[in-house]
Amino acid sequence: MQNKFKNYLSFPFNSSLVFKATESLLNKSPGGYILSFHDLSPEVFSSHVESLKPSIPVPLNELISRYKLGKSIKNCFAITFDDGVKSTIKNNWEICMKNNWPVTFYLPTNYINGDNLPFQKIELFESLLKNENYKLPKTSNSVTERILNKKKLINYLNEIIYVKNNQEVEEILNYFLKILQTSYGLKNNKDLMPKAITWEEIKQISKNELASFQSHSLSHAACSGLSKQELENEMLKSKRIIENCTGKNVNSFCYPYGAPKSISKLSVEIASKYFDYATTLIKGRLNKNSNLHYLPRIDLYQDHKASFARMKVALS
Ligand SMILES: [Zn+2]
Repeated sequence: MQNKFKNYLSFPFNSSLVFKATESLLNKSPGGYILSFHDLSPEVFSSHVESLKPSIPVPLNELISRYKLGKSIKNCFAITFDDGVKSTIKNNWEICMKNNWPVTFYLPTNYINGDNLPFQKIELFESLLKNENYKLPKTSNSVTERILNKKKLINYLNEIIYVKNNQEVEEILNYFLKILQTSYGLKNNKDLMPKAITWEEIKQISKNELASFQSHSLSHAACSGLSKQELENEMLKSKRIIENCTGKNVNSFCYPYGAPKSISKLSVEIASKYFDYATTLIKGRLNKNSNLHYLPRIDLYQDHKASFARMKVALS
């Protein structure tokens, strides 16, 4: 459904009475929840959080420990931001500090170390590649040599990042980055993609009790495409790297892409070994059947009006 239409549908939720009534009618009120944000402006972010009153943000750790102890989590939610984009973190952190809102930032550590995220590379291809046909390269794991037009190529790339092993994904993405360099003469492709927050900035922000930095893996690879060894590496190494920077405990993991097809049973098992809990992007609230290593979240975006944020929360 078009976002414009969804925003339009959510018009009644401009009334906080409708919001509260829907929540209690659907018996959703007792369930605390975790919000997931990506890139969005501080104005939209604060309008979303403000719209959820009387519910208030609590630290993610507190939400989970209350849930584990069977205490009430009514009117409680936690704020999380994924991916470590510098401008997103810095601008929205300002808002969190101003309002005293606890926040968790999930970091893919290779991105902080200079490797752009797979979907950022695809966004670059989408904006720069000409409308032509492209031959897919042969890779170690496939012998297909298909020819795709630009639109199909972008769809194909957006599909494989959700499920395939990152070695194979990297090979294909680097092949197209090379095309940009050789055929288009593009030199500084990094400057055209969103900058990551730096370790120094993470260290500074983490000194504040309101902020928590947690693991979003090393490479932002889909867990379902990884072997046991690779999963151990992605989870344990990223945990250690962040702990070394902040000097604080990293006890939670956020599955890259967060969709069921991107999360294998094996990855849930390994996350259970290293983390107290792990979060997905499967929509929902905490309830008595929640699996601590497969927690739902409610994702909100820049083009959502505050009324739509309310509607999504009330229906989740
Ligand atoms: Zn992510």
